[in-house]
Amino acid sequence: MARTDNDTWDLASSVGSTATMVAAQRVLAHREGLIDDPFAEPLVRAVGSSFFTRALDGEIRFEEIDPQFDPRRAAESMTVRTRHFDRLFTDAAAAGIRQAVILAAGLDARAYRLDWPAGTTVYELDQPAVIAFKTETLAELGAEPRADRRAIAVDLRDDWPAALRDSGFDPTRPTAWIAEGLLIYLPPAAQDLLFDRIDALSAPGSRVATEHIPDVSMFADERSQEIAERIRKYGQDIDMAELIYHGERNDVVDYLTARGWDVTAQKMPDAYAANGFEFPTDGPTAHFADMSYLRAVKR
Ligand code: SAM
Repeated sequence: MARTDNDTWDLASSVGSTATMVAAQRVLAHREGLIDDPFAEPLVRAVGSSFFTRALDGEIRFEEIDPQFDPRRAAESMTVRTRHFDRLFTDAAAAGIRQAVILAAGLDARAYRLDWPAGTTVYELDQPAVIAFKTETLAELGAEPRADRRAIAVDLRDDWPAALRDSGFDPTRPTAWIAEGLLIYLPPAAQDLLFDRIDALSAPGSRVATEHIPDVSMFADERSQEIAERIRKYGQDIDMAELIYHGERNDVVDYLTARGWDVTAQKMPDAYAANGFEFPTDGPTAHFADMSYLRAVKR
């Protein structure tokens, strides 16, 4: 279904289903031994979408959905992504930062799986149904956060800075932020507002990691539509063309640089090489050659 200004979702619907999709990809990376996320699989299964459960059980062959799909390559792609965002937090922790914010947390289990130094507070923000589901499911699994986790149910198009402050966030202390897999789901103006707000809440020395996809046309091309159609036959609606916002948007590197952040951008082929992988020249990942992983430090 097309996006609207105040739309909401859970983990099986609309934008929420993309959180389940990337968590399923983390399952592949975990199974390959490339990342350590033991929570991804039970979380995806708990969502209860038969499409994802059957795919993880091998009952739906990925190649049936996308003839170009290769599970190992998908695992490597998610590994590069996961390590990029993990590193933002581990480096920030090593630099003494004890306040972390996971924007659009989805099924991100970093609060439960990373080795946070004592005294760290981790804020997680996402839509109410998403936040509630993850909190309850991980509690039922007996998982315990490894930091002072504060889950905030809020729409990132609303006044989330107020909700963050109400939960104890201290803007005078440096913060480590991540916005992973979020920007394409925000309208261009909302993306700018997101970074304006991050900037306003960030003391010097704060860090942020995100990704920049300069061209999102691959989410709406014929191949993408065919994949959405095949997934729909299994009862799951994930039509990326409808879920993301198209059109021109500001370049995150320029935007943050202009606001006093030192930004480092790594294009996908370099990010692959840094992880010891070869960037594929064909298949689904090849469409993301121009995508960059970014990290920035506020001066
Ligand atoms: N960061 C997580 C990860 O990488 O596993 C989830 C990424 S998922 C592709 C996109 C996430 O953005 C979903 O969890 C969704 O609920 C969240 N999201 C998108 N737009 C949002 C909004 N306006 N308010 C709150 N959450 C939003």
